[in-house]
Amino acid sequence: MASRTRTPNVRAAQWSPNGGSLGQADLTQPGANIFGENVFSSAVQRQRLPKAHYKQLQETLEAGELLEPTLADAVATAMKEWAMERGATHFTHWFQPLTGITAEKHDSFYAPTGDGNAIAEFAGKELIQGEPDASSFPTGGIRATFEARGYTAWDPTSPAFILENPNGAFLCIPTAFASWTGEALDHKIPLLRSMDALSTVAVRAAQLFGDDECTRVFTTVGPEQEYFLIDERYYFERPDLIITGRTLFGAKPPKGHELDDHYFGSIPERVLACMLETEQELAKLGVPIKTRHNEVAPAQYEVAPVFENSNVGCDHQQLVMQVLQNVARRYGLVCLLHEKPFAGVNGSGKHNNWSMGTDTGHNLLEPGDTPHENLQFLFFISAVIQAVDKHQQLLRASVANAGQDHRLGANEAPPAIISIFLGAELEKVFAAIESGSGDAATPQAYLELGASVLPTLPKHGGDRNRTSPFAFTGNKFEFRAAGSSQSLALPNTVLNTIAAEAIDELTDAVETRVAAGESLEAAVLEVVRAAYAAHKRVVFDGDNYSDDWHAEAEARGLANLRQTPDALPWLVEPATVDVFSRYEVLSERELEARYEVLVEQFTTKLNIEGETAASIARTLLLPAAVQWYATLEAADDNKGVARLKGELDELLDELVERIFALEAANREHPEGVDPLDAARYVQTQVVPAMDAVRSVADRLERIVPDDLWPLPKYSEILFIK
Ligand code: ADP
Ligand code: MG
Repeated sequence: MASRTRTPNVRAAQWSPNGGSLGQADLTQPGANIFGENVFSSAVQRQRLPKAHYKQLQETLEAGELLEPTLADAVATAMKEWAMERGATHFTHWFQPLTGITAEKHDSFYAPTGDGNAIAEFAGKELIQGEPDASSFPTGGIRATFEARGYTAWDPTSPAFILENPNGAFLCIPTAFASWTGEALDHKIPLLRSMDALSTVAVRAAQLFGDDECTRVFTTVGPEQEYFLIDERYYFERPDLIITGRTLFGAKPPKGHELDDHYFGSIPERVLACMLETEQELAKLGVPIKTRHNEVAPAQYEVAPVFENSNVGCDHQQLVMQVLQNVARRYGLVCLLHEKPFAGVNGSGKHNNWSMGTDTGHNLLEPGDTPHENLQFLFFISAVIQAVDKHQQLLRASVANAGQDHRLGANEAPPAIISIFLGAELEKVFAAIESGSGDAATPQAYLELGASVLPTLPKHGGDRNRTSPFAFTGNKFEFRAAGSSQSLALPNTVLNTIAAEAIDELTDAVETRVAAGESLEAAVLEVVRAAYAAHKRVVFDGDNYSDDWHAEAEARGLANLRQTPDALPWLVEPATVDVFSRYEVLSERELEARYEVLVEQFTTKLNIEGETAASIARTLLLPAAVQWYATLEAADDNKGVARLKGELDELLDELVERIFALEAANREHPEGVDPLDAARYVQTQVVPAMDAVRSVADRLERIVPDDLWPLPKYSEILFIK
């Protein structure tokens, strides 16, 4: 077997079912001694469980079997004792319903004994299964109210942890959430299923290349989270921020990010203090934060952990968002996770770094040292190209939400067109494989590809393309179109599932050729060539922001699904239903449920924005303008005053008219229509009516005296740190 490259930070330990990210703390970092202290890690389990039970637990988990009741009781007891020693009084099954955020329902460890005392109880059955009264979670019609019960089931592959509050602590047990009929009501179940699907096919592919030791392939996620921190005083004076998470009004400040003085600038002290505490809290929870810095917009920042397996990484990402928001409040700050809190100012995304690695420590998207390894590398890369091209619309749908509609395609985030950036070197290699010969500009070595002599591939190719939605960055793909507020479970579920399909198909193709007598090298090269030739339209290394690209993408037949209602129907397209059911990730009913929930969320969010905008305009902004008008009326008549009055008169008329129009749009929602038509209604009627009110209001903000204007302005919110 060929020797394997091992990336230093890709370690089997990190991927062991129970290990989570533990064990990879950088001990040179301050705070390393607290890393994972609130996590029921496999190290803690080893310490706390009798040897035989610990071994039995590991074996059960590895086999993916159900826990025996006696073992479950033993684990529950150890977990309870550990948690209570750390001050926990309650436990909760921690799950991820289709709301996109996490849910918890706390139960006390203590049960009354009937004689006025209480004893601490926590049995295996409470660890393994819970029954939250789940009738008010969105289910997309999966669960009729007469069968309203859902249940939560322990996910032992994501370690339990303790959340602290100044007045107590509670144990969180990551769980999956399903209906009694066994359908997934959450984002975790499909993610786990997609990881299994990918593992099965990728192990088969790795074996084809001679890796007999690999028994499991893990997908990995390393998310880069962008967010804003603003002073809470301003937040509480802005009903729009409180209710919708974004400002519905606000004139562009005289200074934006034009001076480029914020990005990577030194971090303001209060903000840094907040970041440091956030990171400490996350360290205790075993979330390995690696980098922090200022982002492009004023008051915008980014935080990124070291990557982990997709399941743990997505759970941890939910914790990152939660802890960021909690800790900010301790510093008089509020953390905004909306994709576009301030119009005209860069919005926030979440880059989703994604890769695949074997349990023997080999990153399948990392070029190797030998031609053989590179053959395998090119095989997996071409599978990803094929998958992304074939399911580009689905990938786009996986990041669609109301906030994203302000961002994607707005010259700060990738366009709604999905394309792949490979880097010049890699593109050259594929081009040479495709043509069977290099051109004059191609390095000599590439010319001999046909003879199965592959060049040493460039590692971590230096070039970057910040405008690409899906960029190869050395040993992983960076999916850059995710939104800052969203759970990463769905995008990763989609990536894993579509990659599984492509790997499966390409493996079949290679096997067929080998069975017909071709050498492995020749077979793989031919399969890679054919896949690239069929799907290279999705490869683009130019400026994704340019108009030229939009025209060219259209000519290439790539989809440009600009708004959420254009994208979401792809969740239930036949091609999606086909791949998701073939790989047993989501059934048609489960897909429809997600589609319905997401469409409804879009409509509801925009409804709320419409109502909030109308209310703010009529009850806060309009009165301020009228008051200023009255002041002008009372003032001595002179030419200047008359001019100001004239200007204001016109704007006031316009404002009133547009408020009435918005109120009408808010009232006149079509009844009893298809949910997608309801979404289209808010998108095409309510949103423009809101924008119309805003444009007059923002002009008024510039002329009404500052002390009369009831809302804090962008120039305050964004620059006071
Ligand atoms: P750079 O972008 O400068 O190359 P890194 O390679 O350290 O920086 O990674 C940037 C982001 O990519 C980090 O959030 C990291 O966790 C993530 N990342 C690195 N390797 C992987 C991988 N194999 N799988 C998933 N994410 C990864
Ligand atoms: Mg970034």
